[in-house]
Formats: sequence, C-alpha cells, structure tokens
Amino acid sequence: MQALLLEQQDGQTQAQLRDISPDALPEGEVTVEVDWSGINYKDALAITGKGKIIRQFPMVPGIDFAGRVLHSSDPRFHHGQSVILTGWGVGETHWGGLAEQARVKADWLVAMPEGLDSRKAMVIGTAGFTAMLCVMALEDGGITPQSGEILVTGAGGGVGSTAVALLHALGYKVCALSGRSATHPMLQQLGADTIIGREALNGDCRPLEKQRWAGAIDTVGDKVLANLLTQIHYGGVVTACGLAGGVNLPTTVMPFILRNVRLQGIDSVSVPVARRVEVWRRLIKNLPATYYQLATREVALADAAEAARQLLANNVTGRTLVKIR
Ligand code: NDP
Repeated sequence: MQALLLEQQDGQTQAQLRDISPDALPEGEVTVEVDWSGINYKDALAITGKGKIIRQFPMVPGIDFAGRVLHSSDPRFHHGQSVILTGWGVGETHWGGLAEQARVKADWLVAMPEGLDSRKAMVIGTAGFTAMLCVMALEDGGITPQSGEILVTGAGGGVGSTAVALLHALGYKVCALSGRSATHPMLQQLGADTIIGREALNGDCRPLEKQRWAGAIDTVGDKVLANLLTQIHYGGVVTACGLAGGVNLPTTVMPFILRNVRLQGIDSVSVPVARRVEVWRRLIKNLPATYYQLATREVALADAAEAARQLLANNVTGRTLVKIR
C-alpha cells in the first residue's frame, strides 16, 4: 500500500510517498480502505515539520479520512461499511489517513451518516466539523440570528469558509475577515454579507472599542482575537479554535468583566461520540449543496506534501481534499 511517510533526518521532517506493507499498520480493531483524506492546518504543520505535532517517527500523517471497512473484529462495523474518522490523535500519535489503508480503534469511527458519502465527508473534514462545533457553541451561548452580526476570521480557510456557509444558511448576518482579496468571490457565494481585510483587526487596540459583533468565530488567535474581543456586544460569545495568526492572546479582562463576554474554547479531537453524531447530523442538515462545490480543491496523494506547504503559505482557499483511490 502507498502512504505518505514522515521521517526525521538531522532534526528535519522529511515527507516521502512510500510503498509499505499493511502488516506495518498500528494495532486497532478496524482496517479501513481510505478513499479520501484532506489537508488541515494541523496536517500542514505536521508534514512540513513547522509545528511540533509529531513526536514519534516514522508517522503517517492525516488527521481525518473517510473510506470503507476492509476488516473489523468489532461487531459495530462490517466489511464494506462506509466510515469517517476525525481526531483522536490519528495522524499525530497513531498512523493516519494519508495512506491507502488505516487501522484504528473502533471507538474512534463514526458510521457514514445518511446524506453523506466519503468525498462529501472529507470536503467537510476536521475543519468543517470544527466550524459546526463553533456554531453550536454560539447557539449554546444564546446567540441567535436576531442577536446581530457574527464575525468569522481566517474566513478564506477550511474552518472559516465552512463557518460562513453554516451561519448564512442558519439566517445569521455574517462578516468575513480575510487577508486576501482572492477569497472574496468564494466568501460572497458562500453567503458573507460583508468582508473586511485582516489589517482592520491586526493592530494595537484599546481595552474596549465600539460594540460591533454579537459573536465571533475565531480561527486566527493573537492580535486579531484580542481586537475582536474589544468589539463584542454585551453578553456576546466568541469561540476560539485556531492559531493561524499566532498562539498569543494580548488582551485585558475588560470585555469579560464589563461586557459579560464569553470566550469559549473549541477542541475537535476528543469530542465524545454522541456529540460527534449530532455535529455530523447538523452539518448534513445545514450545509447547502453549493458548499460542496465552492470551497474545495482536489490533489493526489503524491501532491499532498506540496499542498501542505501551500496551505501554510496562505495560498489555499477553502478545503484541500486528497484523493487516495
Ligand atoms: P486554513 O489554513 O485552511 O485556514 C486558516 C486561515 O487563516 C487562512 O486561510 C487565512 O485566511 C488565515 N491566516 C493564515 N495565516 C494567517 C496569519 N498569519 N494571520 C492571520 N490570519 C491568517 O486552516 P484550517 O481552516 O484548517 O484551520 C484554521 C485554524 O483552526 C488553524 O489554526 C487550525 O490549527 C485550527 N483548528 C483547530 C481545531 C481544533 O480542534 N481546535 C480543529 C481544526 C482546525 P484568510 O487568507 O482568509 O485571511
């Protein structure tokens, strides 16, 4: 079987397409023939070695995949069944989806829900799954379309573009923050009502600014997150899922103690199974058919490493799908 294999030489991560024996796959109850995987930000950090994602080499990256069960020793899954995997450290500490086969724990798999297929599931991928978690967190915080405008940062990326599509479909007014004018046509087609440039929120800010947003979905962190927090309505909710702009958060307590703002962290890796099933149900229900065409490009497994470099260089719009077979 073919796999993208990450190895380390002189402290540098090397990514090579290799022929490996399926016997080399790690332990797990279910072996899956992978049809589609994707390049998420975390995959790009792992493949290029720019982030300390992988600690044990050799490693097959790929934090998500969809495919069909080849063998299962667990009664919940049978030969030929379509399944999805996101998270659980797959592609980080356990060999992942950028390979023709993957062997994983049955507990980590979700049976393909009605209304999805392998390709559509990976158009959504971890990025889209995370966008839905963010939208559900806004809802859990009481934010409705009547509350006011929602800001989405890093809007041209996988999480951001899916968040724009979901919020628009749910009737929210959406402002997309993007650092690139090339993303504007896609963002408009996905339903962004307004688009602002990254520089609008990338400078120094006062502890509180004019209240502008009922909520925000932030994929960027650092100054952008600090700035938007100063502009959130009284009682508003901000979800923080990403670090595309940096890991710092140079803020003050003022938005929290004077405007009752809620900052909700989002993790997609260890979401309990029942919540996962609900997230996929909502994605199928809320994403419009156009989303699957607008926010996607496809690459071959042999081109996955180059796609990872392009993603980190901020040259990619929407989701990158990897066609495995
Ligand atoms: P993408 O690369 O697809 O999107 C990131 C976007 O952020 C880019 O398209 C760009 O949008 C913007 N961006 C890039 N560089 C910078 C920068 N230096 N400063 C400000 N904005 C920048 O990645 P994903 O959508 O896959 O992931 C987005 C973030 O969410 C990542 O940090 C990722 O690690 C995180 N994430 C977290 C998860 C979790 O479980 N918490 C799960 C999935 C993702 P534009 O050009 O439009 O400005």
